[in-house]
Amino acid sequence: MKLSEILHAIRVVMSISSKGVLVLRGCRAAAICAIGLLLLLGTGCVGAGAGVVPVVVKRTQMQMGTLVTITSVAATRQQAQDAASAGFHEIHRLEELLSTWIGTSELSRVNGSAGKEAVPVSPDTMRVLEASLEMARLTDGGFNILVGPAVEAWSVLDRQQVPSDRDLETIRPLTDLNALELNRVQGTVYLGRPGMRVDVGGIGKGFAADMAVEAMGRAGAIAGVVALSGDIRTFGRLPDGTTFPFGIRHPRREGAVLAVIDLQNEAISTAGDYERYFERDGVRYHHILDPVTLQPARDCQSVTVVARDGMTADGLDTGIFVMGRERGLALVERLPGVGAVIVDRDGKVWVSSYLKGRVRVNE
Ligand code: ADP
Ligand code: MG
Repeated sequence: MKLSEILHAIRVVMSISSKGVLVLRGCRAAAICAIGLLLLLGTGCVGAGAGVVPVVVKRTQMQMGTLVTITSVAATRQQAQDAASAGFHEIHRLEELLSTWIGTSELSRVNGSAGKEAVPVSPDTMRVLEASLEMARLTDGGFNILVGPAVEAWSVLDRQQVPSDRDLETIRPLTDLNALELNRVQGTVYLGRPGMRVDVGGIGKGFAADMAVEAMGRAGAIAGVVALSGDIRTFGRLPDGTTFPFGIRHPRREGAVLAVIDLQNEAISTAGDYERYFERDGVRYHHILDPVTLQPARDCQSVTVVARDGMTADGLDTGIFVMGRERGLALVERLPGVGAVIVDRDGKVWVSSYLKGRVRVNE
């Protein structure tokens, strides 16, 4: 497939998914579009070896407040369907644990008991919280799962107000990660101050993609893609060795593709300032906050991270978005198996060394 054909295919898929997203309120357009399926369909019959022709199934559902698309490849249609179902099932299970929109979720109970008592959580919830703290360390505090009250003060989605410095200073103690206590032995979580809130919106979808992929593998899939909007994990190879191509959305030109990259057994995730934002007096206010200033992070337009697992890619895109281009790229260069494409505040595109030669930027 030529680059121009790939770009065309991406545009087709993007326009379809963007329309779907626009129809359903509260959803966002996918930052990255899986066009793996197009290739899969084109190559699925080319020879799977031993006379078995793999079957490709693609299904979409609303989960975790976003459009989830699962592409499942297996030896039989039934297996491919079962594996896709297993993937959706797993995401649903995690949503019930992690979503703060669900009053009975484990994290809602943790938040409801802030300043009062420790709450027992499942090993999966503990894993996300531990990974979140690790991500905070890695990104020098850029990633912080306690910024929820500040995100709400900005209420980018509904009231669209600019909070006063005084409001933000009142909120600041609630974002102190030292007041989040994980007791691994007892399996409990405690938020030290009333009003504190855990929000894994910046890492949870990547984790869900990882877990869905594992569930699909157990159910018999040999390859596939799990895409929770712009948080995507791929696994397996195509029968003819072709990898999955993805398009990275242009942060300023609606519907345009900034770059294309092929992935194999990898995850990709994008954080951008164009998904949820409002403008006042020419200033763009969006949903990723710098935990130091409690203001929207200003140094990047979008950060795309490729990593071996979805949780790393998802957590890092948000954390690096806050760190900014220079420190973010320096961090990525230190991490094995991690690459980034960063569009800085001036629209300049930066590609880390791990991805050089793999990313085709659409000039
Ligand atoms: P999405 O794919 O939903 O845009 P991102 O990975 O871009 O997710 O993360 C954005 C979400 O993370 C926000 O909606 C908010 O809930 C939360 N968030 C905002 N700022 C931070 C931060 N500095 N660290 C961790 N999470 C954050
Ligand atoms: Mg993220």
